[in-house]
Amino acid sequence: MKIRIEKASCVGNARCAAVSEELFPLNDDGYIAVDAVDVPPGMEQIARRGARACPERIIFVVEEE
Ligand code: SF4
Repeated sequence: MKIRIEKASCVGNARCAAVSEELFPLNDDGYIAVDAVDVPPGMEQIARRGARACPERIIFVVEEE
């Protein structure tokens, strides 16, 4: 599973990082620091939760075969 983030549209409210700082690292200004993440095994539910937590709806979970 992967996460894709439309980083340029981030408003920096850190809702994603509140779910997981590991999956959703923020930069020094409080905006999401990455635009793609490989979700480690076992963290799929947290990844989905983080995606739902983003009010801007810019976090997308990419399911793989
Ligand atoms: S929840 Fe969405 S808008 Fe907020 S910091 Fe994370 S990616 Fe950015």
